[in-house]
Amino acid sequence: AQVFERRRDFLHNVSTTLIKNHDFVAAEELRSKNMLKNHALAMSIADVGWRTFLGMLAYKAELYHRQFLTVNPKNTTQACHECGFVMGTAGTEKLILADREWTCPKCHAHHDRDHNAAQNILTKGIIKLA
Ligand SMILES: [Zn+2]
Repeated sequence: AQVFERRRDFLHNVSTTLIKNHDFVAAEELRSKNMLKNHALAMSIADVGWRTFLGMLAYKAELYHRQFLTVNPKNTTQACHECGFVMGTAGTEKLILADREWTCPKCHAHHDRDHNAAQNILTKGIIKLA
């Protein structure tokens, strides 16, 4: 129980910092723990739960008058943020977890996997907000 509480406290700190420092935060509705690069965050979310974390973000957004919303996680990893090409289509292989960086076969943009996914999530969030 002590570990659980420590991890919940940690998620409280992370969610407060995220909301306080940004006017707008978008997150995926569901995110598996092995997609999280930050080890402490991954462990805490495995324990406490992604939904609980999203709940913290939602009520803190209200508290601090920020915008927070969740988006459908479909293709956020596989789609190129520059041109929209989706890996796994047109005869290409889907990206796997080990692919930390990749180059889009269509527009040749070079991506950090997580940064590209984050940009897709933000774009989806902005579209949903409009
Ligand atoms: Zn591309």
